[in-house]
Amino acid sequence: MTRLTRRTFLKQTAAGAALAALGGRPAPAHNALAQGEAETPFVVVDAHEDIAWNMLNHGRDYTRSAYETRAIEGAGIPYAHNAGICTLGLPEWLAGQVGVIAATVFVMPVQHSISTDVVVYATPDEAHDWGMRELDAYEALAEAVGGQVRLIDTAGDLDAVVRTWAPDADPAERQIGLLRSMEGADPIREPAEVGAWFERGLRIIGPSWRRTRYGGGTWEPGPLTDLGRALLDEMAALGMMLDLSHASDQTFLEALDHYDGVVLTSHSNPRAFCPGASAAPTTR
Ligand SMILES: [Zn+2]
Repeated sequence: MTRLTRRTFLKQTAAGAALAALGGRPAPAHNALAQGEAETPFVVVDAHEDIAWNMLNHGRDYTRSAYETRAIEGAGIPYAHNAGICTLGLPEWLAGQVGVIAATVFVMPVQHSISTDVVVYATPDEAHDWGMRELDAYEALAEAVGGQVRLIDTAGDLDAVVRTWAPDADPAERQIGLLRSMEGADPIREPAEVGAWFERGLRIIGPSWRRTRYGGGTWEPGPLTDLGRALLDEMAALGMMLDLSHASDQTFLEALDHYDGVVLTSHSNPRAFCPGASAAPTTR
């Protein structure tokens, strides 16, 4: 696609037109948090998005605006149940200063599939193959937009992305950095394979979604397994981040005791506000 600039965004999209009507600025250079720090880049970090899942299963093109995708998908297509209404696209990331995104590798276990039109896995080999295709999809996305989406492999890559958001940087040079993460570690066929995934760019692993071979998950309680402990050891040796969103209570606490590295919960809330795994399932 052609390279997006603030001007073409404002001209080509309805969202851009609306923003233009509000004064022509897709997003402020700073928000209240950054006031007084004129030289400090401000970016929003979106810690979890199933982008490749939606690319491969629903044909979504994230170089389009969310507005365009909604217009293409239309109200009658059953995306609401499988994927939700599209809220993401490169123009919106640029306008919203969403400079860093944890983009997931996620594959659906066959026993939890709610649709015949999504990829599922029954074996670790199948999960592995589709997980690798999702990493391919991120490489293709970065390739398609010529530098506006950058794959983050190193701290240097992250710094370079954030620098493009400095107030004095050229807005045309802004980049969206994708930090690749995994939700549900079954695509990793055995713990010794973690290094191969790291080589492909994976930097964050969440062992659980529902229960996996590595530990208990949402609505499917259980412990961190022997495989799970071995997985964490491999991750720690490589300096990877451990994502404990979706971990069951037991797996969560055991992983905190076991893991010798950086831990995050990428998409979780206090149980008092969002009961999650302790509530009866009403949706997937
Ligand atoms: Zn999730």
